[in-house]
Amino acid sequence: MPAYRTVIATAAVLLFATHVSAEPAVWRSDHVAVSYQGIEQVQAEAIGRVVEAARQAAIDQYGFDMPKTVTVTVTADPELKHVRLFTDGHDRITLQLRRPDDLRRPEVTGAYHVYGLCHEVGHLAMYRPITERRWLSSAAAEGWAHYLGSHLVDAVHAKLGDKGWCDPYDYRADGTQRLNKQLQNDGRPRPGSTVEGAALWQQLVTLIGKERVPGLFKAWQETKIDLADPGAALRATLVERHPDEKVAAWWNRAEPVLVVKRPSSEFDARTAKPAAMMKQPRQLSHDDGKPTGKRSMAGSGHVVAFDSPGVGWYLTKVRIHGARYGSPRPPADDFRVTLCDEQGKAIREFAFPYASFQRGAARWVDLPIEPTEVPAKFRVCVDFNPTGTKGVFVFFDTAGSGRSRFGLPGGRSRGFSNGDWLIRAEVDQLRSADALKPTP
Ligand SMILES: [Zn+2]
Repeated sequence: MPAYRTVIATAAVLLFATHVSAEPAVWRSDHVAVSYQGIEQVQAEAIGRVVEAARQAAIDQYGFDMPKTVTVTVTADPELKHVRLFTDGHDRITLQLRRPDDLRRPEVTGAYHVYGLCHEVGHLAMYRPITERRWLSSAAAEGWAHYLGSHLVDAVHAKLGDKGWCDPYDYRADGTQRLNKQLQNDGRPRPGSTVEGAALWQQLVTLIGKERVPGLFKAWQETKIDLADPGAALRATLVERHPDEKVAAWWNRAEPVLVVKRPSSEFDARTAKPAAMMKQPRQLSHDDGKPTGKRSMAGSGHVVAFDSPGVGWYLTKVRIHGARYGSPRPPADDFRVTLCDEQGKAIREFAFPYASFQRGAARWVDLPIEPTEVPAKFRVCVDFNPTGTKGVFVFFDTAGSGRSRFGLPGGRSRGFSNGDWLIRAEVDQLRSADALKPTP
C-alpha cells in the first residue's frame, strides 16, 4: 500500500511539473480574465462566469466601483496542504488548489467555491473605496464580505442557475438562505465574529439602502480619523449623511464591533535634526545575522522589543533583512515603521516607499528615521500591509530570544518563537548630551 501511494504522489508531482512549466492558459469574458494552470477549461470558465456575474451584481444593485477587469489566477499544486482563496483588495483574486477535483461541489469537497468567489468580490467592493483599513476590525471586513458575498451568490444563481458551477448544484443554499439562518439561530452571535459583523452590515443596508453604501464607504475614506479613536469622526460622517436617529442608534451598537481603537503611547518623544546627533550610533539587535526562514503575515506586522542603552537615546535608523514579493514593479504604496512603547502603543509612525525593497535575494535595507527619543523599553513595529500578491518577506534566524512578535501598533500582539526577526534598531545621542563637547 505505501508503495502504491508513492507512485501516485510521484505521478502527481510530475503532472504538476508539466503544468508549471507550461504558460498559463487564459479564459476571458468582458470584465474577467482567468489565468489558469492545472485545471480544465470548463472549470476556469465556471470560475470566470461566477466572478463576472457577481461583479455585475455589485455594480447593478449597489453601484460599487468595481475593477474594469478582475483577474483571477488559479493554480493547482498537489503539495499544498489547504486550498486558499484571497484577494489583493484591488482587482485580483487568487485561488490555490491542490488538484482539479478540489472544484467539485461542497458535498464532495467541503469547499464552497461559488460563495468563496462572491465573498472575495465582496471584499473588493469594500477595499477599493476604503484603502485606509486600519480602523476596520476583522468582524467589520469579514462580516461585510460575508454579508455581500451571500447576497451576490443569490444574484449569480438568478443569472446562471445550478449549471453556473462546473459541478452543478443548487448553490442558493450557500447564499442568503445560509446567512439568514445564521442570523436567526445566532440571535446573539459570538462577539467579534464574522456573523456579528454581517448582521450589523445587513441592518445598516436595510436602514440606508443598498445604493447609498458606496458613497458612505467613500466618505469614510475621506474622513480624517485619529487611529487612536476613529469612532467619533466616522460617526460624524455617517450621521451627517444620514440624519436619522435609527442610524445613530445603529452606530452605537456597531462601533464597538466594527471599529478598532489603536491607543497611542503617553510617552512624549522629543525629536531632533540629524545634524544634532553625535554620529556615534549604537546598533541594537537580538538576531545572529543568519537568516533561516521568512514570513509575511496579512493583517499583522513584525515587532521587535529593544532596551535603550540609557536615558536620552534617539532612534535614528531601522534595518530590516528582507525581500519584496509580488509584481516586478513595486506597488506605489508606502509601508510603515512605528516606534512603540513597551506595551506596543504607537509613539511615532514613519512611512517608507515599498520600492525600498527589491525582489529576489534578500538583503539588509537601511531606513533612516528622523531622530526620535526612545523610552527605556521600546518596540519597533513594521507593517507592510501585505496581501497574497504584494508584500515583503522579513527573515528570521534559528533561535528566538523571545523579543520578536507579530502585531500592529496599539493592537494585541503575540510572541513569535521560531527565531528572531532580522530587524535592528540604531540609536544615537544628541551632541549636546556630551558634556565634554557642548553644542557649538
Ligand atoms: Zn474574507
